[in-house]
Amino acid sequence: MVELRAITFVDRDGELYYRCPRCGRIFRKSKDYTRHVNRAHVMKG
Ligand SMILES: [Zn+2]
Repeated sequence: MVELRAITFVDRDGELYYRCPRCGRIFRKSKDYTRHVNRAHVMKG
């Protein structure tokens, strides 16, 4: 089972960001990141 864990980092303003390890996209909410992974990197029947 492959789990895509977001790369998290904080910018100068103290905002937390999530980066997709697969394609490098950046999201500001974990919810958006999760949705992206499900859409772009997880095959669903
Ligand atoms: Zn991605």
